[in-house]
Amino acid sequence: MSNRTVYRDDHEQFRTQVRRFLESEVVPFYSEWEDQGIVPKSVWLKAGKEGLLNCMIPEPFGGGGDFGHSAVLLEEMARANTISVGFPLHSDIVAPYIYAYGTQEQRERWLLPMMRGELIGAIAMTEPGTGSDLKAVRTNAVLDGDHYVLNGQKTFITNGQNAGLVIVVTKTNPDLGAKGISLLVVQEGMEGFSKGRKLKKIGMRAQDTSELFFDNVRVPVTNLLGEENAGFKYLMHELAQERLVIAVRCAASLETFLEKTIAYTRERKTFGQTVLSFQNTRFKLAAAKAEIAMLRVFVDDCLRLHLQKQLTPELAAMAKLNATGIQNRLLDEFLQLHGGYGYMSEYQIGTAWADARVGRIYGGSDEIMKEIIARGL
Ligand SMILES: Cc1cc2nc3c(=O)[nH]c(=O)nc-3n(C[C@H](O)[C@H](O)[C@H](O)COP(=O)(O)OP(=O)(O)OC[C@H]3O[C@@H](n4cnc5c(N)ncnc54)[C@H](O)[C@@H]3O)c2cc1C
Repeated sequence: MSNRTVYRDDHEQFRTQVRRFLESEVVPFYSEWEDQGIVPKSVWLKAGKEGLLNCMIPEPFGGGGDFGHSAVLLEEMARANTISVGFPLHSDIVAPYIYAYGTQEQRERWLLPMMRGELIGAIAMTEPGTGSDLKAVRTNAVLDGDHYVLNGQKTFITNGQNAGLVIVVTKTNPDLGAKGISLLVVQEGMEGFSKGRKLKKIGMRAQDTSELFFDNVRVPVTNLLGEENAGFKYLMHELAQERLVIAVRCAASLETFLEKTIAYTRERKTFGQTVLSFQNTRFKLAAAKAEIAMLRVFVDDCLRLHLQKQLTPELAAMAKLNATGIQNRLLDEFLQLHGGYGYMSEYQIGTAWADARVGRIYGGSDEIMKEIIARGL
């Protein structure tokens, strides 16, 4: 859509820079990283040098931009079909916790190397026994002098292998349920902290999704983020942005793959005519175009509200639920219009289709989004 008004000139200049970086440093190597299941740390360093990490965090801890800059990066990664590179989780999910709830000393200790790509961030909420029901986490930390002794296990953690810093969601008072949860920062090298398997997935294949283990890890109290037992409140506050991250990515991916599918079906011939000339194809793509245009307006409105700090958890849940649902359904139709080529991994539509599926699960599943929206009925 050309008449978008949500971005300023500085956002568009940043877009040009991001596009150039992705074209030279990411796209040519991406399928290799998908096969390896991880993005090399050297790419993180390059992104840091280019100013692409922590871009919404105020200076000197980040690029001094706003969420509009993050959204530009998300859109361009979706357009380049390289969404499994974990920059957004690091910059738009992990770094904001440290900036918002960390002390000045913690910001200096962690955000500066994160901005440079020297330290990669992850956040560990999910456990083998609990995902959607976050307050049921069993990982626990017991205060012992000036340390917490942390025990537990996490799974499905994005950036898990590369991470030098992990925000761990843990119980610090198991009797208090959601009110007994804290956020502790665990750093690579702490005794008792180990990384398990890099998990094999059907999509998001360049992302090093992993298990993490904590066996009597002594975490200094100076690694507590914010106040003890206030972690659940922080999580509920920050999750709206995580949901918008996912919605922004979906809208851009849909616009890109609509164009690609039009181009493919215009070229491909069957029964002596192009696939695009069949009424079925034209109707499918016309309906898709109309739906994507509606989605774009809603997502941009959420983006505008978020830039004004007015995005509610309910609107963020609506954006995520709609965007991921529409994306999954339409990418499936676009893949169908590619025929057998759509199923081949060298065709981008196949990768995008597989990458999209997790959107309805992570960051809070469809069902949890409906729960959030239903609370306001
Ligand atoms: C690729 C990938 C990356 C991820 N990255 C991270 C990460 O970086 N950090 C992290 O902490 N986690 C991460 N996750 C985990 C993700 O957030 C969880 O998988 C998700 O929250 C769902 O939890 P679960 O898998 O335990 O499913 P469950 O909670 O067991 O849910 C199973 C099913 O039950 C449904 N359900 C659950 N509760 C209700 C209810 N109240 N009403 C109706 N239906 C319900 C769910 O919607 C789902 O359909 C990632 C997952 C994947 C796949």
